[in-house]
Amino acid sequence: MTFFVTISHSLASVTASHGRRALRSAGVSSVGYWQLGTLFVALYLAVERATFAYQLDGLGITLWSPSAGLSLALLMTAGISYAPFVLAASLITDYAVYSGPRGWVAPIATSLVLTGGLVALALVLKTRLHLARPRLSHVWILLAVVPSGTLIIALAYCLVLYVTDQLSSWSFDRAVRNFWIGDTLGIITVLPVAATVFASVSRASRQAIRHGVIEVAFFSMALAAALWVIFGLKTASEAQFFYLLFLPIVWTAARHGFAGVAIALLSTHVALIAVVTVQGYAAPDFIAFQMLMLVLSVTGLLLGAAVTESRASEERLRDQRSELARAARHALVGATGTALAHEISQPLSSATNYLHAASRMLQAQPHADPSIAEALAKARSEAQRARETLQRVRDYVSCGRLALSSVDVEALTARIVSLIGAEAGSRGVEIRVSSAPHLPNIQGDAIQLEQLLLNLISNAIDAAAQGAKAQGRVAVHLVQQRDRIVVSVDDNGPGIAEHIADRLFEPFETTKQSGMGLGLALARQIVEAHTGELRVENRAAQGARFSVALNIDGPRRRHGN
Ligand code: ADP
Repeated sequence: MTFFVTISHSLASVTASHGRRALRSAGVSSVGYWQLGTLFVALYLAVERATFAYQLDGLGITLWSPSAGLSLALLMTAGISYAPFVLAASLITDYAVYSGPRGWVAPIATSLVLTGGLVALALVLKTRLHLARPRLSHVWILLAVVPSGTLIIALAYCLVLYVTDQLSSWSFDRAVRNFWIGDTLGIITVLPVAATVFASVSRASRQAIRHGVIEVAFFSMALAAALWVIFGLKTASEAQFFYLLFLPIVWTAARHGFAGVAIALLSTHVALIAVVTVQGYAAPDFIAFQMLMLVLSVTGLLLGAAVTESRASEERLRDQRSELARAARHALVGATGTALAHEISQPLSSATNYLHAASRMLQAQPHADPSIAEALAKARSEAQRARETLQRVRDYVSCGRLALSSVDVEALTARIVSLIGAEAGSRGVEIRVSSAPHLPNIQGDAIQLEQLLLNLISNAIDAAAQGAKAQGRVAVHLVQQRDRIVVSVDDNGPGIAEHIADRLFEPFETTKQSGMGLGLALARQIVEAHTGELRVENRAAQGARFSVALNIDGPRRRHGN
């Protein structure tokens, strides 16, 4: 499972703090690959079982296919690494739910076709749809891409059935049509809801899921009890105790806001319709229930929206506060850094010069004790280290003013790697650089960009060297993505430690004994000054990935500037 922090020029502060939250929530306790995959398979089977009644000629082609929407949602939100679960769910369904003498070739081949098609569809949709931030254009994309994709899948699926003698030529086009429309309907109706559910489940901690299950059970019991009192007691009028349904709805709205209450209302509606149907109410009786349900829905939605809104403003306030605290800390670091650099650099230079002179004087003495020269050399190297530390503070403080020029990022990276490659090699770390062909130069501050990449690559080397792997590896990759160059730095170290993930980009936050914790703070400043984007993610059991996206045309003007 991956998690990431994004820092982009727009709303840099807000995004960073949201990112920090994402980072925090995705810890060791996150729901794992197998849990989410198993949850998906269970849902898939349940949904297939529910739609089973409509299947065409025992071929698994149903009137509508919500399981396709479910699969696509999983592949899009959790990643295509979940494809084996889609394949498994489809195969199990074939054997456990659908009937008929079908052998094993047809189920395996159709499941492969279905999974492959859905993976391709997920890849196409993923780059164009942002279900977390839906826009009208996304709906159009959904309506254009999904039917085209499902038509291809339907044709391939039915072709496999035909070739394996499961489908006669005369029912071929009917099967394609049903499968195509069924999948399209299933995907368009289920994908938005399922994507939201999977995204929150894959982000939630195990404890949150446990709570979720308890709450759903509690809600279901409360709903069942209310329905039993309303319909089971056989009072003069069912509407008499209808107000009992308000309790679980109000409770859910207060706890889970708009999204929670929307699901609760849907469940209540479905349960109510089921009871009304089973009890065989005549259509004219419905009006009382319909009016009561309408009032229940309006109350629930209004309350839910109010709760969600007040939570959002609380969150905004918290973000603003932490942003203010960050700005104050930065100002303090800036002021202290400038004062210290000014006060210390002069005496430090003099001390270095004196040490240098003393070494020379010693060299002129033929019988001098060699241990004195050694001690002087050590003192000089310590003074040098102090100067470098000071320089890092200065870099951090003075960053922000850009000297723009045309920068060849590929050459810059090669230079950095040639500078530090040998040292990395001596620590058992191999650095590989790969880049897409014909990358254009970008407008940027060459010195700052060198500093930025140097910090990221040095950190990756440190991480790879301390990792448990026998061979430390750092891979730097450069590509062009539209009007940006993206440099990603991967390592096979232990990944970002959870306890520092929240404050990774804060100055003086470090887990290294001799670290200053300024590298990433400076990297963030440089990226912000270039109006670029900096992301960090932990790749499941593979170490960390930092990636920087920089505009080819240089820093963009900020709004209001
Ligand atoms: P420093 O390198 O001096 O510690 P940085 O600001 O560069 O300061 O990094 C801060 C911290 O971020 C590091 O101490 C380390 O814990 C974490 N970190 C940075 N890069 C990586 C990486 N590639 N893998 C794991 N942790 C990292």
